[in-house]
Amino acid sequence: MLTSNLEGERETFVSHLECSITGKRYEADRLHGLSDAGRPLLVRYDLEAAGRALSKATLEARPTDLWRWRELLPVRHTDSIVSLGEIETPLVPIPKSGGSKVLVKDEGRLPTGSFKARGLVMAVAMAKELGVTRIAMPTNGNAGAALAAYATRAGIETVVLCPSDTPEINVREIAAQGARVYRVNGLIDECGAIVGQGAAEGLWFDFSTLKEPYRIEGKKTMGLELAAQLGWRLPKAIFYPTGGGTGLISMWKAFDELEQLGWIGSARPKMFAVQASGCAPIVRAFEQGEEHAERWEDAHTVAAGIRVPKAVGDFLIIRAVRESGGKAVAVDEDEIIRATSDSAMQDGLLLCPEGGATLAAYRKALAEGWVAADDEAVLFNCATGLKYPMEDRSQSIDKDALPALRTL
Ligand SMILES: *Cc1c(COP(=O)(O)O)cnc(C)c1O
Repeated sequence: MLTSNLEGERETFVSHLECSITGKRYEADRLHGLSDAGRPLLVRYDLEAAGRALSKATLEARPTDLWRWRELLPVRHTDSIVSLGEIETPLVPIPKSGGSKVLVKDEGRLPTGSFKARGLVMAVAMAKELGVTRIAMPTNGNAGAALAAYATRAGIETVVLCPSDTPEINVREIAAQGARVYRVNGLIDECGAIVGQGAAEGLWFDFSTLKEPYRIEGKKTMGLELAAQLGWRLPKAIFYPTGGGTGLISMWKAFDELEQLGWIGSARPKMFAVQASGCAPIVRAFEQGEEHAERWEDAHTVAAGIRVPKAVGDFLIIRAVRESGGKAVAVDEDEIIRATSDSAMQDGLLLCPEGGATLAAYRKALAEGWVAADDEAVLFNCATGLKYPMEDRSQSIDKDALPALRTL
């Protein structure tokens, strides 16, 4: 048994879903994509009832995995859940490369090696609960891998489309876990357009970022977990590598729900949406005072997970960043590479490039005075560094002509 949090009947406190732009209500327990206005749907709960059913003490007595939060999650039937062991991820200090108040939430420890597992375990459970048998998704790699793993386990067929230059290991991992994978000569939004076309033809259900409502609910557990780990307070700043922005939007939602439960106060971290200079649509819109972000042309960066030229939840990201008093920050490729290397070489923590981008952005924020050195800051490393190509820093020796070993 993976976790006792999955035993017994569950109660869900979902009251309805709501369009994130118009507020229009949608019924729970029905299959939904985007709202009529073409925007993401947000799941709403009867938090008063949830608060009566779940005390902090009850929660703290449970094993620390994702399912301890079940009263704040949408899944109704335990049978719908396919779990691969969604553990609580650690907060790892990086005192040398970051600073004495810098913690990395290392999401690379999750199943399939990335935090996409949080969103997809939930979205797949809901798809299974609502009778979906075929799913398609555009991906830069990690989301497709998590979808493949959970959908295969749930007996749901999957078609995954990725840009042809997606890291090789991701493409192969997706296929290895049972999805049909196609490489497309375009970027993720162009893969998404193909998925949307097939969905309109009734061929499959569209699992693009934020185009179904439950990935946000799974990723919300990052914010819930963080508050619990810090003893029911939040850090001063959060640095989040932002592609589609699901994680940032969902943490912001988590903090609101925790405040409504009376478990935290009204103080919020400054939210920093981190992007690469080669693909920074949210940063550009933020700096220009816009609410929506235009598509970024010729997007390129080593940090594949944040190479997202156009995000359907752009206004939700920008709104959360503004309300929090944070910023959208772009970092250069050499800063990303240097930060990733520093964390590994100085603190022994191998970040993914997207995680390296958050360290680079933290350094920039510190230099610019947007955060102080004694402000507690949490950086999100959203995948294991092991999934990415690494520089070869080895040398060879000839066993038949050994050099003096003291020179090694
Ligand atoms: C998907 C992904 C991101 C971006 O996440 P969003 O919540 O979609 O913005 C960042 N880093 C990694 C490693 C990812 O896989």
